[in-house]
Amino acid sequence: MKPIIKTLPVFLLLLAGAAAAQDAVHYSLRISNAAQHTAEVSARFPASAKADPIVQLPNWRTGRYEILPLANGLRAVSAKTADGKNVPIHKTDKATWQLNLPAGVPFEISYELYANELGLRTRHIDDSHAYLNASAVFVYAPEFRANPIDVKLSVPDGWQSRSGMDKGGCGHCFTAANYDVLTDAPIETGIHTYVQTRVDGKPIELAIWGEGNYDADAMLKDLTAMVKSTNSLFGSVPYRRYLFIVHATDAARGATEHMNSTVIQSTRWSFAPRVEYLKFARTAAHEFFHTWNVKAYRPKEMVPYDYQKENHTNLLWISEGHTSYFENLIALDAGVQDEQEYLGDVSATLDGYLRTPGRFEQSANESSFDEWIQPDGDRHQNASVSIYPKGEMLGLTMDLTLRKESGGSAGLRDVHKLLWQKHRVDQGGYSEADVLAALQKVSGRSWQDFWARHVIGTEELPVLALLKDAGIDWVADRKPEDGKPYYWTGLSVAAGSDAEFAVVKAVEKGSPAWKAGITAGDVLVSINGFRVSAKSADARLQTFGGKEMAITVFRREQAQRMKLSAEQKPGAAMKLEADGKATPAQLALRKAWLAN
Ligand SMILES: [Zn+2]
Repeated sequence: MKPIIKTLPVFLLLLAGAAAAQDAVHYSLRISNAAQHTAEVSARFPASAKADPIVQLPNWRTGRYEILPLANGLRAVSAKTADGKNVPIHKTDKATWQLNLPAGVPFEISYELYANELGLRTRHIDDSHAYLNASAVFVYAPEFRANPIDVKLSVPDGWQSRSGMDKGGCGHCFTAANYDVLTDAPIETGIHTYVQTRVDGKPIELAIWGEGNYDADAMLKDLTAMVKSTNSLFGSVPYRRYLFIVHATDAARGATEHMNSTVIQSTRWSFAPRVEYLKFARTAAHEFFHTWNVKAYRPKEMVPYDYQKENHTNLLWISEGHTSYFENLIALDAGVQDEQEYLGDVSATLDGYLRTPGRFEQSANESSFDEWIQPDGDRHQNASVSIYPKGEMLGLTMDLTLRKESGGSAGLRDVHKLLWQKHRVDQGGYSEADVLAALQKVSGRSWQDFWARHVIGTEELPVLALLKDAGIDWVADRKPEDGKPYYWTGLSVAAGSDAEFAVVKAVEKGSPAWKAGITAGDVLVSINGFRVSAKSADARLQTFGGKEMAITVFRREQAQRMKLSAEQKPGAAMKLEADGKATPAQLALRKAWLAN
């Protein structure tokens, strides 16, 4: 810090600024027409130190690294002074409004909010609830981003309001230390099932909106076990209380982490059978792990968040992929799933990963940087790699390597403990060099070479060899009696608008179908002269796969013919299987890894 030598007027101005910095920003939201998804919002700000202050709505929300048109939900934006005089206001870009107001005058912004988006977890109002992520709901003045906040909701009778924020002076009031806390503590208000408990002395709450085939008490029991397991992994916790919000609904699926809460969306009938329930449980473990990895410590390029534009970093594969790696281990450690179920989920990720030609086209670093603009569909599969499976497989590779080299005593969790201890958000976050230093500290050696090959580079991960060292084999996923060859073409088809049609969804780069010239969007109509549908396509490819096949597709309604020669593979899918004859050394590594 530099010594401060200031003249008196500037010093006084600083003092005035310090006083203004303590004034609260007051938000109020009244649900005006629940059926039509609208609310009236107002935000009262202290006096600005500058003339013509601006207010903004974020262009993305934390946890979803994508620019979103959030400001499109605001209408009838107006401004007035604290004593009620209208103030001219105009837009200067898609999410910024400027007031025509002298300095030193407190002001209020009002607008109508349309909230009818559920699946991106931004804002949703209907006659049974409202889910409000402040990034999509409440404007902020950059000048007052650090000021304390209070929020008052006016909601229909019988509703209850929950948030990671502290309760304010009324049943539907909350307070936050600043706007960053507000944006990372979404509000769930409405009619919901609510249960709570305490874990390690801290309240753990569960609020479920929507009916479905769930058992809230059983869920809370599993959440409790996973919270305990994660708390003990890190050794200390970054929250005073934690809230799991669950949306049991129709089409929405996904989840988002926040500072001391999460929102998890599942289709309402997907909490059973067990295989479906485990997806919920692993997602809950994932989001809870983020309370540390992302919310408490994250890449320095995202500290503080810039709400107006992309926050590029090369390290999102650690934020997301390592979290995916640990979610599964925590569910295992907590006893929510067994070893077989653990290996089943890792198998599915590994199988998908090894069928992603894009892993040789895009590195973990590049994928992280470009997460904001990742392409979809077959192009993604062939030209990109997702930070989730890539980061998870990097996590598995790194953990097994650390375990193997340390005789089981050190692991990836030790690296994350160091990041949590040394690079918290209030310490500025972490850099690539900080991660390399943590790896070196845990392992006693440099990870520069690993980084160059597998993080900056796209060299194949030695994951199958490391799993073999732990006595886990990669084998064809098929019944023992089924000795038939499997003919692989690299084609994925699905039903088109007419369920009879087999529409090509993806063609794996370099596969037989790729070489034959088949592309996504083609409609596969016949194989060797026989008609195929979405239902029969895979079976007919197996029937005729032993020899070159004559394929007919419609491309933009016109027939095209091509020759397709399949390749023989051990099975349609692969899986991990514990080797019953593993050596003591293999068993020791497996034990250290899975006991984690
Ligand atoms: Zn995540």
